Amino acid sequence: KHDGERDKDKADRATSEQVLDQRTRMILLQLINRGVVSEVHGAISTGKEANVYGAVSYDEETGAATQRAIKVYKTAILVFKDRERYITGEHRFKGGFDKGNNRKMVKLWAEKEYRNLRRIYSAGIPCPEPLALKLHVLVMGFLGDKKGWAYPRLRDANLQGDDVDQQWQALYVQLLGTMRRMYQVCKLVHADLSEYNILYHAGKLYIIDVSQSVEPDHPRSLEFLRMDIKNVGDFFRRKGVDTLPDRAIFNFITVPEGPVEEPALGEALAKLYETRRDATNDEEAAAEEVDTEVFRNQYIPQTLEQVYDVEKDVKRLNLGEGNDLVYSKLLADQVVAPKGDGEGDDESEDESEDESGEGASLDG
Ligand code: ADP
Ligand code: MG
Repeated sequence: KHDGERDKDKADRATSEQVLDQRTRMILLQLINRGVVSEVHGAISTGKEANVYGAVSYDEETGAATQRAIKVYKTAILVFKDRERYITGEHRFKGGFDKGNNRKMVKLWAEKEYRNLRRIYSAGIPCPEPLALKLHVLVMGFLGDKKGWAYPRLRDANLQGDDVDQQWQALYVQLLGTMRRMYQVCKLVHADLSEYNILYHAGKLYIIDVSQSVEPDHPRSLEFLRMDIKNVGDFFRRKGVDTLPDRAIFNFITVPEGPVEEPALGEALAKLYETRRDATNDEEAAAEEVDTEVFRNQYIPQTLEQVYDVEKDVKRLNLGEGNDLVYSKLLADQVVAPKGDGEGDDESEDESEDESGEGASLDG
């Protein structure tokens, strides 16, 4: 067999367990042809919005194997199926949310994840190294051991030793420092931060799943940050960690003055703990609890669907607002054009856009 066929076999093997569509198979094949990866393996994770596959890249000279992870966004996301039904017959969405558009949206998420990872990775925050992007397929460094076992999620971390409590406390403090660095250095709020989107290994926390992360000037970034703080606090409290009040963390993360590097970050947090210890009595503790409730009791988005409230955002765009939306350009073809001739976005247009995005995405 010539090389092309052998490569095709490899791509086929990867897809035998999970049904991947033709486009995704072609992309995997391209990645193999270009040597980005050598083999694609089975799924590490199958989720609602994406599957993550293991992969290996062999060094041409030494033959040394390097593990990779490939995140494949699903082009038929449930969220959009629902939307499709909801908007059928609505003239403003003439031609909208067809398969082509669905693909565009998913491509956008992959792109966002890639860019956000680049920022986080270059800031030196532990996370997968972003390696390549092609449409809705993202290749990144593998967080796991040589045998291909991924590091556990923080939720499943099995801490060992007789100082487990201190280890949890240290991880909590580490994470708060990371959140501040993400905010101040990367200019990002994770927006889906929890024990499910953090991997743990050897005392270190790795940030993953950043497609929905937003910049501080996103209209909802502070709500997302508040949600992240709540999730993190809830988890570490369950682990017995003495957590800081949400509002204090919020200030710690968002105040521009102050350190963004360890060990100064940790020292700043230690100071926060001291201040609080000085002030602790029952009355103050009760007030703190109320304050936390008030602080939390505002709109908290639950899903990616709410992060991108497509309908509401299209409405805004129709009113001439919302140019700050990260995906305002993408939504442009959902907006009623004054003449309203409903120019469809056909397959060929979709393809040409795909190709133009390719060069830029394979750098780094
Ligand atoms: P989802 O959108 O499905 O939540 P995630 O990015 O959170 O996708 O990834 C899902 C799971 O895949 C993670 O919990 C983790 O177990 C695994 N995973 C993701 N990225 C990597 C990686 N770079 N290395 C190892 N495992 C990974
Ligand atoms: Mg996740």
